[in-house]
Amino acid sequence: MSANSAFPVHDEVGWGLRAFEVSCIAGAATLFFVHCMRFVSCKASFAWPLGLAVIVGALSADFTSGIVHWFCDTWFHDTLPFLGPRFLRPFRVHHVNPDDFLRRDFIDTNGDVSMLVIAVLLTALLIPLETAGERWLVVYLVTFSLVGWPTNQIHQWAHRPQPPRWIARLQQLGLILSRPAHQEHHVAPYSKNYCIAKGWLKFIFFPAWKP
Ligand SMILES: [Zn+2]
Ligand SMILES: [Zn+2]
Repeated sequence: MSANSAFPVHDEVGWGLRAFEVSCIAGAATLFFVHCMRFVSCKASFAWPLGLAVIVGALSADFTSGIVHWFCDTWFHDTLPFLGPRFLRPFRVHHVNPDDFLRRDFIDTNGDVSMLVIAVLLTALLIPLETAGERWLVVYLVTFSLVGWPTNQIHQWAHRPQPPRWIARLQQLGLILSRPAHQEHHVAPYSKNYCIAKGWLKFIFFPAWKP
């Protein structure tokens, strides 16, 4: 609880955790580069089903953001070991004090998702690019990671009254989560707009979260 606020606020991040978050962001960026180099050096032709892998991967990322968001809003207490402090508590604080999210800087906002993205990209690195099925799976996993990576950043932009102009344009075009769409999530019955990676699947209904 902050001395200046009547509401709970996000935990301050110490230098050790901050260094870890920086390394997660750098690690995720490095792994995306490694995968790009893999695709460029792959001698096999890139057939049309890989386009389908891109579409399915992107939609899966948005859907997964909805499932994770719903889980973190709804289930267990934020005192749960490990998951509680870093994954459940930020969601619970966010629903009581949404504007406090705007205090979190780029590293604090994107570090945790980067850690999850690293796990998926390392898994994808274990899959060779020899058969069509393997290439489909790797393209799917890399697209899934790429679309899911800025989930928290896009969520934060949806809370900014005046985001950067190019971000506001992307929001208006429906390419990323918009402020009006996300504001619907923050009012009762708390059952809509859980998909926040991009907001494309915002119509999916989740059983209500009780504040
Ligand atoms: Zn929520
Ligand atoms: Zn929000």
